[in-house]
Amino acid sequence: MGKQISKDKVYITTAIDYANEVIHIGHAFQKVLADILARYWRMKGKKVFFLTGTDEHGANIEQKAKQEKKDPQEYVDEISSLDKEELKSLNISYDRFIRTTDQDHIQTVKWFWKRIKEKGDVYLKEFSGLYCLGCESFKTPHEIVDGKCPLHPTQDLVKVSEENYFFRWSKYEPFLKDFLRKHKDFIVPSSRYKEMINFLNQGLEDISVSRKSVKWGIPVPGKESEQVFYVWFEALMNYYTGAKNNGFWDDNTYIIHIMGKDNLRWHALLWPAILKSAELRMPDVILGHGFCSLNGQKISKSRGNFVRAKDLVEQTSQDAVRYFLAKYGPLRDDADISLEKVKKAYNSELANNLGNLIQRVCRLAEKNNCLVKKAEDLSFYSQVDNFIRDFKLDFALNFIGQKLDALNKLLDEEKPWAQSASQAQEIISQVITELRQICYNLYPFLPLSMDKALKIISQDKIKTGQPLFPRL
Ligand SMILES: [Zn+2]
Repeated sequence: MGKQISKDKVYITTAIDYANEVIHIGHAFQKVLADILARYWRMKGKKVFFLTGTDEHGANIEQKAKQEKKDPQEYVDEISSLDKEELKSLNISYDRFIRTTDQDHIQTVKWFWKRIKEKGDVYLKEFSGLYCLGCESFKTPHEIVDGKCPLHPTQDLVKVSEENYFFRWSKYEPFLKDFLRKHKDFIVPSSRYKEMINFLNQGLEDISVSRKSVKWGIPVPGKESEQVFYVWFEALMNYYTGAKNNGFWDDNTYIIHIMGKDNLRWHALLWPAILKSAELRMPDVILGHGFCSLNGQKISKSRGNFVRAKDLVEQTSQDAVRYFLAKYGPLRDDADISLEKVKKAYNSELANNLGNLIQRVCRLAEKNNCLVKKAEDLSFYSQVDNFIRDFKLDFALNFIGQKLDALNKLLDEEKPWAQSASQAQEIISQVITELRQICYNLYPFLPLSMDKALKIISQDKIKTGQPLFPRL
């Protein structure tokens, strides 16, 4: 059964992408996922706020900008505007593109700091550890494989010894255990819920939340010339920045955070501890999806195994990429993507199955002079509602695909072309009614083409249009 949402507002956030590099297709998957949910909830009449953006501070960016002989601000300005182009190519309907260099975000971070500090939840401590620039985080001994970070095997870990502020994460261990026990659906999918419980059961250690050797960051109040906030710590607060002035962090909002599985720990365990310390409400869902590989291998720019959404859209189409990612992307488990796979899914499932049916039905309606009665209220199939609310977008598309198969079969069996005019009109009218329903259900997934399809098949007197899904 899909989750029933009684709240009037839905707040959807994606991870904010680290601005050391323009996003690739793996990041784009996450934006498509969030976009489908945002469009769905808007269609259900909820007030939706959809936040995405870029994470722009930290040593990694400082270093990248230096390599390119640019000012860090200039560097992140370029990356964030290129990221926006990527999102545009996929028709991502965000309400705000937040940047952690935005003034209101900087104010939010200072506000959090004051609250947390007054709670007695931070302290200064001399610290020494191995730091991965790629992850922008310290690595504990059991996270290091052959002296390297497994996620960044080409980079050396840096030994860092300095005085940092620490957040009393350990203090919130009992709270987090209790909260997770009471909210078994807080982390999606459930396999990742178990991962987080296991991590929690190993015990939490206080975490460094400022850096002394880094210049490119938000200065810690009172220590402006010495310390900046640790990038992870302040980046999480962007979700509150995006909602604090528009009412999307109140109790009447259903809050969904979407991120990759590598960021789950910060979102599922650190962010709730920060919120608890600041006495703010918890989010409702933390969705950690899998990773995309490309052509059977890890996506890697340095190895040339790399594609951006915009390029893939240019080689195929916006619908083709959105459809593939929603149905075959790494929603739960990791998934592989390739140009051939995107084309194959598009040609067989969109061009052949849906596109042909729309063309066939329009031609029949035109030929038989069908006057189709005005569309009654369109709605989502209850199964599609349930699947989307449970974040099973692939199941929803499967279900819609079955409806489409059944409709193709019905047309073949009823053969309106071999019937009397009145019988033909009746069959065609029935098929069009169901087809409208299918297109409506597909709208959050394929907004561009479903908008056109619904216009074509909702005319009183249908005229065949251009094919919506020309073969690739
Ligand atoms: Zn790393």
